[in-house]
Amino acid sequence: MRRFEYPYFGKRYLYDIPNKTLHDLVNETDECKINEIHEDDIDMYSHLNELALLLEHPVYYPCPHCMKKEEEK
Ligand SMILES: [Zn+2]
Repeated sequence: MRRFEYPYFGKRYLYDIPNKTLHDLVNETDECKINEIHEDDIDMYSHLNELALLLEHPVYYPCPHCMKKEEEK
């Protein structure tokens, strides 16, 4: 579920900074526990290939709950 308020800004991908985990909010599940991630621990991206993502976080792990579907396309 996309969220349009701070700190999500309607972007699709949420990066959990301490856990180095990337979530796809379009395919979000309850197990993602997005609402439990502190706003200071969040970076948002519109696209997976956004250069800023790789520059700021060269290592990330796709969330096993919401990123599966994306790989199958
Ligand atoms: Zn997730």
